[in-house]
Amino acid sequence: MSDQLKYRRILLKLSGEALMGDADYGIDPKVIGRLADEILEVRRVGVEIGVVIGGGNIFRGAGLAEAGMDRVTGDHMGMLATVMNALAMQDAIEKRGGYARVMSALPIHDVAEDFIRRRAVRHIEKGRIALFAAGTGNPFFTTDSAAALRAVEIGADLLLKATKVDGVYSADPAKHADATRYDRLNYDQVIERKLAVMDTAAIALCRDHHMPVRIYDMTVPGNLMRIMRGEPIGTLVEG
Ligand code: UDP
Repeated sequence: MSDQLKYRRILLKLSGEALMGDADYGIDPKVIGRLADEILEVRRVGVEIGVVIGGGNIFRGAGLAEAGMDRVTGDHMGMLATVMNALAMQDAIEKRGGYARVMSALPIHDVAEDFIRRRAVRHIEKGRIALFAAGTGNPFFTTDSAAALRAVEIGADLLLKATKVDGVYSADPAKHADATRYDRLNYDQVIERKLAVMDTAAIALCRDHHMPVRIYDMTVPGNLMRIMRGEPIGTLVEG
């Protein structure tokens, strides 16, 4: 691995919304292709990578429950949506000559491997991109919590949360002209100030296990590689 790299192993959280580009539903192949290119660029310089993909571009349990559906059923549908997104990412990575494995927290053996921690670590050590699907496998959780969990489980050096904004702000910058962007925060500040970083369960898990989190703008090409080289892009949350 190049000694210019700051990180050896990362967990990248991509929301489902990140995959839909300018559309309001589903997957934009151009967007997923560009993200696959960035992941492979970082892989080729030696970084080991696990990815957690959300499902909000297709279904969210909370939204389905608001519309009258049983919450647990809605969450199952949300988790299955993440499996579809992960399959699309697996396809995009392999079309570009990379190696990827979807590992699902819900067993669906004809479609994906089960998530087994030791096997996941083996995949990433061998240079495959591990795509962790179906969140935690439990209703009432989010894929942010799954990202925190998998980051800790695989011993990542950094959890990266890819977003469409360039970091964490004191208020919504679209609504408040005086909102300021933070370069650094600690976990308790995120929780106390109710900052829209990740849900509280995910942040608390990162805090308890000293997992640094960097929130960055994934719409700027090359940002992932810049972060690997140690550039302070976005907002860093740590202890
Ligand atoms: N989900 C769940 N348990 C998990 C992770 C996800 O039940 O451990 C369901 C939940 O309904 C959630 C949906 O899957 O709304 C999609 O995940 P999420 O909303 O986190 O996706 P994102 O916002 O990242 O696209």
